[in-house]
Amino acid sequence: RAKMAGRNTYRFYEPAMDEAQQERQALELDLRQALARGEFALHYQPLLDLASGRISGCEALVRWHHRTRGMIPPGAFIALAEETRLIVPLGEWVLREACREAATWSEPMRISVNVSAVQFRQPGLVQGVMSALAASGLPPERLELEITETVLIHEGEALKTLHQLRGLGVRIALDDFGTGYSSLSYLRRFPFDKIKIDRSFVKEIDNPDTAAIVRAMVGLGSRLGIAITAEGVETQAQLDQVRAEGCTEAQGYLISRPGPAREVLGPLERMMRAG
Ligand code: C2E
Ligand code: MG
Ligand code: MG
Ligand code: MG
Repeated sequence: RAKMAGRNTYRFYEPAMDEAQQERQALELDLRQALARGEFALHYQPLLDLASGRISGCEALVRWHHRTRGMIPPGAFIALAEETRLIVPLGEWVLREACREAATWSEPMRISVNVSAVQFRQPGLVQGVMSALAASGLPPERLELEITETVLIHEGEALKTLHQLRGLGVRIALDDFGTGYSSLSYLRRFPFDKIKIDRSFVKEIDNPDTAAIVRAMVGLGSRLGIAITAEGVETQAQLDQVRAEGCTEAQGYLISRPGPAREVLGPLERMMRAG
């Protein structure tokens, strides 16, 4: 009804339908078409192993090349994709594409793939991971799934899925650590291979209180045998400090910005072959 009326009448009957909502609706429509149109691409960002000084892997980060708006970052559409459940087919595409890409690398680096809470809770997840591994031929130990604390709210279900995934030989990382709730007890209950300290901590690591929190996270992680990545390292001072605090890995613009495989991987593989 309202949709068939003219623009002004529309506003009259639904005053709450403001510009932002119209914008969202347009974006949702486009999002529904985007997969079929092949508008998504993955960028890759290297992770630096602080003990060896070598690149241990890359994180796959989705990008949307919208035909009129240009590149849209995930922050602008992941939430919408979750609300509409379009994240399920999108997440499956990301997983398959990331595994396919990683299987072509001449260095056996790890590939990290973000898994949204909605995707994680969907019954086909474990099967989807198995299928992506089989199709690409990527060894399971080279795949790392990044989940966030929101996944863990339904504790029993989450534990079951995490154990099934680890049973496949896949690694699990807890992303954006420190930004959610009751983080510390999660570390004991769930089988994580890695925690990624959120970049909001790294940004303020020159603050002694923040440094103390990071030190506590690292201490806990190392006692539980969990690797610790510092996210969002932008300066040499931050890199020096996260290393001093005992982080095992660093990721951030200082090391490399995320980029298309051909831009990021080529130089990386040449560098690794050289030394
Ligand atoms: P994330 O998983 O925590 O990824 C790290 C984000 O920090 C990326 O943003 C990356 O570009 C950015 N970043 C890396 N180093 C630095 C740095 O030194 N400084 C700053 N300021 N930022 C840095 P991006 O690519 O915009 O992704 C944002 C979030 O969107 C990701 O956060 C992740 O939660 C989500 N996301 C990205 N790709 C996917 C995907 O394929 N599936 C799902 N479910 N979520 C994704
Ligand atoms: Mg991540
Ligand atoms: Mg993160
Ligand atoms: Mg983040």
